[in-house]
Amino acid sequence: MLLDADGGVVEKDAFLSSIWPNEDIGEANITQHIFMLRSMLDDPDGRACIITVAGKGYRLGTPVERKVGLVMRGLCERCNRPLGMSDDARICSYECTFCAECALSFENICPNCGGELVARPRRNSAP
Ligand SMILES: [Zn+2]
Ligand SMILES: [Zn+2]
Repeated sequence: MLLDADGGVVEKDAFLSSIWPNEDIGEANITQHIFMLRSMLDDPDGRACIITVAGKGYRLGTPVERKVGLVMRGLCERCNRPLGMSDDARICSYECTFCAECALSFENICPNCGGELVARPRRNSAP
């Protein structure tokens, strides 16, 4: 629910009515669940993932990135060779993208992040 609200406040009543619709569970229960979620999610350096909005409810404290699929970059970052969806390309885990030749010249180590460059899955025409 917090993810769906995308940084907006989720009111306590909303939690109660959608998670425990037929039970009189009380706010202390929500507090307890939020406490457990926090202990799983909060950053080691102290940034709160879930923020209490006094008198209302809770919201996410950190932006959440949602991804669907790879970013299919159209050019080699080094030599600017065009790379089609079905061409042989190499990517690192951050999606830095190179043609196979450039990747080979770096011995398949990404020059930006030092990570491994692997073959990018080819994509056929849009589904
Ligand atoms: Zn290249
Ligand atoms: Zn990289």
